[in-house]
Amino acid sequence: MTVAVEPVTDALRSMQIGEVKIGEPLSRHTSFRIGGPASVFVEPDTLNGVVQVLDWVKHQALPYFIIGQGTNILVSDRGVDAVVISTARGLKTVAVESRFIRSGSGVLLTRLCRIAERAELTGLEFAISIPGTLGGALVMNAGAHGSAMVHVVDEVLVWDAVAGVRTIAATDVEFQYRQSRFMHHPWIALEATLSLMPGVKADIQEKMRRNMDYRKRSQPVGEPNAGSIFKNPVPDYAGQVIEAIGAKGWHSGDAVVSDLHANFIVNHGEARAVDVLELMRRIRREVYRVYGIVLKPEIRWIGPNEGGAETTWENLWYAEGVGLTEP
Ligand SMILES: Cc1cc2nc3c(=O)[nH]c(=O)nc-3n(C[C@H](O)[C@H](O)[C@H](O)COP(=O)(O)OP(=O)(O)OC[C@H]3O[C@@H](n4cnc5c(N)ncnc54)[C@H](O)[C@@H]3O)c2cc1C
Repeated sequence: MTVAVEPVTDALRSMQIGEVKIGEPLSRHTSFRIGGPASVFVEPDTLNGVVQVLDWVKHQALPYFIIGQGTNILVSDRGVDAVVISTARGLKTVAVESRFIRSGSGVLLTRLCRIAERAELTGLEFAISIPGTLGGALVMNAGAHGSAMVHVVDEVLVWDAVAGVRTIAATDVEFQYRQSRFMHHPWIALEATLSLMPGVKADIQEKMRRNMDYRKRSQPVGEPNAGSIFKNPVPDYAGQVIEAIGAKGWHSGDAVVSDLHANFIVNHGEARAVDVLELMRRIRREVYRVYGIVLKPEIRWIGPNEGGAETTWENLWYAEGVGLTEP
């Protein structure tokens, strides 16, 4: 389907819910600094605005995509023919009640960590070094330093394409390692309540400091990237097996396997999505050849479903023949 840009933009602007842009380059909204234009890009100012847009795109049967901070996605160089809805402005409210934090899904995890620290609440220290929004973290069950969102989420307010706005319990989100029911269900996270425990401020600060130090030492935080490219093939670590095949420094165009951490691909300037894809394919093929391990991507692909190197992960990998051993 092709989004009829003019009428869609006119209709969205008439709702007066926030900024509406045509052809906004998504490279401006991803930590990789990669990605072609969105047909229509909307930044609603309020939660109601987000819901209004979602209801409308659903009613019009238009393709849509929610973007948080864009720190876990690889967007096609051809862009996205959809209404891209950003949570960056409209889902920003935070309230602390006793040991619970209720937050809009557009709030940055790092900001929530600082709020928890001020309120002397412990449990969220693992997230201090994870960029991105609460919404993205819920979808990905983001985690680090031995913990993950599954351990702190109490309930989530979602927009459900079928049932409308409703609250779901954390158990219904079915969190697993870097995945959740959000990936297979027409849900958009609007708000979430995090359940923390009373803690000692100095201990919370010390844990956060240690986690941030570790991150700075072990990951290329200063260069454009999208975090871990592949999930860990438990019990192994993706970074270790990729390093072991000698991939550090491999490059395709300006996309380079980081010298600091082999499971990170960094953009040295003008990298395109197809460069990253080619590098991923090369890494995956070689890891399979040497170790018989099939690496699964952690980053999410946003773009056309078929054609050339820009295709879904499944087509991409299965076209190689390598993925045929996947369960
Ligand atoms: C330097 C670096 C380090 C990182 N380290 C870690 C780490 O240690 N652990 C870890 O788990 N991740 C890590 N990541 C990956 C990333 O930061 C997390 O996955 C983060 O939670 C993604 O949030 P986001 O707002 O950027 O999501 P986006 O990248 O914008 O979106 C990710 C997915 O979530 C969907 N989405 C976003 N918001 C919503 C919403 N409100 N409702 C429904 N769907 C939504 C999007 O459609 C997309 O499919 C790292 C990334 C970088 C760049």
